[in-house]
Amino acid sequence: MTAVTAVDAAAVSALPSAAGSSTSAASAISLYAKPTPGFEDRVANAVAILKAASEKHLGTIVQSTSLGVEGMVLTDMIARHQLPIAIGTLNTGKLHAQTVELISRIEDRYAVDVEVYEPVNESVIQFVRQNGENAMYESVDLRKGCCAVRKIEPMSRMMAGRTAWVTGLRREQSDNRSEVSFHDVDKDGREKVIPLADWSWADVWQYVAAYDVPYNPLHDEFFPSIGCAPCTRAIAVGEDFRAGRWWWEEEGFKECGLHGSNAHGGVSSLGAISTLSPIGQTA
Ligand code: SF4
Repeated sequence: MTAVTAVDAAAVSALPSAAGSSTSAASAISLYAKPTPGFEDRVANAVAILKAASEKHLGTIVQSTSLGVEGMVLTDMIARHQLPIAIGTLNTGKLHAQTVELISRIEDRYAVDVEVYEPVNESVIQFVRQNGENAMYESVDLRKGCCAVRKIEPMSRMMAGRTAWVTGLRREQSDNRSEVSFHDVDKDGREKVIPLADWSWADVWQYVAAYDVPYNPLHDEFFPSIGCAPCTRAIAVGEDFRAGRWWWEEEGFKECGLHGSNAHGGVSSLGAISTLSPIGQTA
């Protein structure tokens, strides 16, 4: 195991072994993990950012994880360094089984409780009754409406009472995210903490390999970005990291609203839930 330098090394301690870890002969680790100059510094910087944020927002900070590999890296850092940061995720009802299984794997591995936020059943029923089970394919507005019901509203409950949240955005993920910084502010004034902003894909997998981090087996099947099952596919060589998300839509601002656009054309805020009708359609 590679040591985390400079930052609370004593806390790099008795984590249970990674039972159920998803490594295999043709794993994402073997494809992507690569040591690059400055890796240890980036690890130390990310941990330092998390630590400072946990102290600044003691008791009111949550990691919002989509259970993708970046989220798993951050969860590992939080658990490994015993930082007082809650772990929260959204179960939209449309996730792959492998993604849902990660929740219990996290809890078993790190001995933490994961807060799981689900959509309001009535809202889902109403949306589907009115727009159909596969409305997301019919228009961008309907896709965003589905995201509003299944993601944005539950996310607002995760954020209630919180003054800060941690997210695994990286600049490299897409043009929309190319200018994210380590700290931002969402539309409600909460601090948005982005410790992996400057990390490469190789860094992420180097960390997974070095610290034996459990991850979604879909990453071994060329799903770099994992969302809901109907809206995520594997990508081909040369495609953008997020090309597998809402792939049927024309190029543009492909985000679900959890990360709205900022003045720089990047991503910033929690999104505009206030502009959505009760059934979640965009105004
Ligand atoms: S990602 Fe797809 S299935 Fe998931 S909430 Fe958005 S539109 Fe609905």
